[in-house]
Amino acid sequence: MDCIFCRIINRELPAARIFEDSDVISFLDINPVNFGHTLVVPKRHYELLLDIPGVELGRVTKILPSIARAVMAATKADGLNVFQTNGPCAGQTVPHLHFHIIPRHTHDDFSFGWRQKKYRGDEMARMQTDIISALKNVGV
Ligand code: AMP
Ligand code: ZN
Repeated sequence: MDCIFCRIINRELPAARIFEDSDVISFLDINPVNFGHTLVVPKRHYELLLDIPGVELGRVTKILPSIARAVMAATKADGLNVFQTNGPCAGQTVPHLHFHIIPRHTHDDFSFGWRQKKYRGDEMARMQTDIISALKNVGV
């Protein structure tokens, strides 16, 4: 499969590896938002968060706190973001599930630039009902 991250996992491409076990690999992002920007990637190829079974995701995300602590310590960051993209419209450029760990510094000039909407009338209650009912169909 022509997937950059699978090729890194299979050692066909180089990467600045941080950690690896049978379920997960972590390496430096080649174009960091801030230096130390690290990716945490399941070894099995799933495109989206929606595709991976929860139990398997647990075996991937168990490493997030340790990697986050290490990135914070090594970069002397003041904080960090954990960020994850699903689909091109959400900014996903590599179609292999991954988590970004982005060290943040006070006044680092980076912003996610969120704009936030306001619910009106019963829109929020209806949205709550719709998602709860969808969750029943999807299953927990
Ligand atoms: P996303 O936009 O969420 O799909 O993020 C993909 C990330 O992968 C980007 O931040 C890229 O800089 C990073 N990336 C792409 N190719 C490589 C590579 N060969 N080694 C390390 N990071 C990469
Ligand atoms: Zn892949």
